[in-house]
Amino acid sequence: MCNCCVSSVPPDSSYEAFAGPVRNWQAALTTGLDRSIRASDHNLGHIEEEIAHKTRELQRTIAQEAAQKKADDIPPTCPVCGAKLTRVTHGHERRIQTRFGPITITRSRGWCRKCKQWFYPADRALGIDDGGTASPAVQEMAALLGSKMPMSEASAVVKRLTGVDLPRPTLDREAKRQGKRAERTRDKMDEQMRTALGAQEQGQGDTGGPFTLVLEIDAWNIRERDDWGKTQRQRARGVEPERWHWVYAATCFRLEDRVRKADRAMILSRGTVMTRGGIEALKNQLWAEAMRHGLAHAARVIVIADGAVWIWNLVTDRFEKAIQRLDLFHAKEHLWTVARTLHPHDNPAAQAWVGPLLKDLERDQGHKVVAELEAVAKGKRGPMREAVAKEINYFGSNLHRMKYKDGDKLGEPLGSGAIESTCRQYQCRFKRPGQFWTREGDEALMCLETFWRNGRWHILFPHSLWDPSRN
Ligand SMILES: [Zn+2]
Repeated sequence: MCNCCVSSVPPDSSYEAFAGPVRNWQAALTTGLDRSIRASDHNLGHIEEEIAHKTRELQRTIAQEAAQKKADDIPPTCPVCGAKLTRVTHGHERRIQTRFGPITITRSRGWCRKCKQWFYPADRALGIDDGGTASPAVQEMAALLGSKMPMSEASAVVKRLTGVDLPRPTLDREAKRQGKRAERTRDKMDEQMRTALGAQEQGQGDTGGPFTLVLEIDAWNIRERDDWGKTQRQRARGVEPERWHWVYAATCFRLEDRVRKADRAMILSRGTVMTRGGIEALKNQLWAEAMRHGLAHAARVIVIADGAVWIWNLVTDRFEKAIQRLDLFHAKEHLWTVARTLHPHDNPAAQAWVGPLLKDLERDQGHKVVAELEAVAKGKRGPMREAVAKEINYFGSNLHRMKYKDGDKLGEPLGSGAIESTCRQYQCRFKRPGQFWTREGDEALMCLETFWRNGRWHILFPHSLWDPSRN
């Protein structure tokens, strides 16, 4: 078909691969299967291996032919502005790594007078216009594997499972490229939420009754190779290189989506935010995520977190009407710390002291806890007095956040366990022994992981929603 014409007839539906290559595949596979059937030491695994291996070359041939047909079918118009391209030339080769192996296609190139740029319109249509060598399916593989497991393992796993040869550097580069794309997509979506239109659209689905929105906020740290190789020089100047950095985390969900199953709380639908971009980034991302979960229409919003001051500042700034709740289990842990300081070698005594205070906490009697700590502090000196004073300050400044009775009655969470367990899950990937990240790399891969968790993977990889058996 001529590349200069807009397609008006269906593409040629005959495939060369269905003639010779299919016959060759059938013959080779039959021989291979016969061997496995007769061999006493071969089981079904060998048969599966035989089929996968022999069929892969046929799949590759078909993929190449179909990709070429699609490329030939794309009119020479600018993929950005739609104008007709000029100075069009044909036959430009490109090699692409697909899930069935490498293929080579040729396509046309043309100049857009309006955009003042060269374009290969077929690249956009095939989803390979981001400069990499990977097909969309391989881009997805790299993204999924890179965000779930160390690259060194991922390369071997993908080779074993799919036969695709993606050396570690290629996989690494591709995963990061997809992560960067995920970041740009996330920022664009968040920006849309900030516009009036986005906020309006969010309201349309909310036809149900009043609901409670729960937000939980936390942080953990990650190790990066900042100033890598300059450690000695820095130390000589008396500067200790700082390698640990905060990753800020939050989750939001509707209370009705939190159900009890076998005595464990499960959240059926929730949004996660995870960023290395600082508190400001967390604030903006969490706000957008909360809006997606109905912030604008929630009858009651509660924020649960440990005592970190930056969290409450963020909440006051961006979620001013939210009810603030100090994580009950953190608060109890603080009391236990005092108990162990007062009775370092006497567990029963520590327990006897802390027991009634734990009950006071649960009964919204935080002021009694503060009074008891103040009484204790009076009789102490030095480090012990300081330790108790620190806790008086902690409980004193959080008194208004220690109202647990109402929350308990309403079936609300009293602790921030949901976000804490999410942080632990991210740490299983991003905080392994001996692991050092770059600021760019960790944010990109965490962003991919967050798209996956938030059920938005298809926004990055639309083909993942396509179910050929249903269409
Ligand atoms: Zn253009």
